[in-house]
Amino acid sequence: AYRLAIENARGPAVTLDGIKISVVANVGSDHDTQQAMINGAEGVGLYRMEQAYLGRTEPPSTAELVAEMTQVLAAAKGRSVCVRLLDVGADKPLPFLAFFAESNPALGRRGIRLLLEYPELLRTQLRAVLELSGEFDVRILIPMVTLPEDIVAVKDLLLPLCCEMHVGVPKIGAMIETPAAALSSKAIARHVDFLSFGTNDLTQYTCAADRENASVERYFNDASDPIFRLLSLVHEDVPHMPLSVCGELAGRPEHVAKLLTCGIRTLSVAAPLIPIVKEAIRNCSIYSD
Ligand code: PEP
Ligand code: MG
Repeated sequence: AYRLAIENARGPAVTLDGIKISVVANVGSDHDTQQAMINGAEGVGLYRMEQAYLGRTEPPSTAELVAEMTQVLAAAKGRSVCVRLLDVGADKPLPFLAFFAESNPALGRRGIRLLLEYPELLRTQLRAVLELSGEFDVRILIPMVTLPEDIVAVKDLLLPLCCEMHVGVPKIGAMIETPAAALSSKAIARHVDFLSFGTNDLTQYTCAADRENASVERYFNDASDPIFRLLSLVHEDVPHMPLSVCGELAGRPEHVAKLLTCGIRTLSVAAPLIPIVKEAIRNCSIYSD
């Protein structure tokens, strides 16, 4: 029975009407990645690199970042791993960057906005990802995108580094976690290979409800109509773009069928949720009842 369970976990997730869905993992530590592989993840859909930066007095060098990522991602060697660029802001200050107090950090300098003000910090991350490209099938994911220019600016730094390091240009994706990004997916899609919905932040910004404030919890509903409408709209606007969800909504089996109907073909979830998400996929059909 145990072997059967393992084989079931490792097997592909195909809907009743034959559509193959990728189930990948959200990871932050080596333990997460090991668990994810045991549970049948096909790769890493979201590596959050915040841990490599928080609690340090100086930013990591390229070599340190490569060492850290190699260790965290080791269990996924040879597979597709999606590395998200550093996503911090005034709510998670780093001692080596000049943070000024912001009355509204969630609407301030966070994610890619902050990185573009510190191009050396961003270049270090891009270099580290490119160094990993020998051992992993790496992709780059940009957090907190609101403008197509956010992506263009990353590519302007990335392309010269690829030449310098004699490596191919990795696939690049935008996080869709602001209503502005969802509503401009056509313009954003022109610059990327895939889109990944960060439904935690997308809900926070769409519902105008702080994701960490329990007193407005009832307004924060990531499985609500406004969120599904944004997902569907993106799918209608860019029907050929690979779409994934890496927010917590992806890990709730009762919503899997609806996500697939919205055109999502990759679900990135915490390691323990992989088996139940695969099971939910195997029990639903997208185009027929
Ligand atoms: C999200 O916003 O849904 C997401 C996946 O990113 P994070 O939770 O790290 O903000
Ligand atoms: Mg987010």
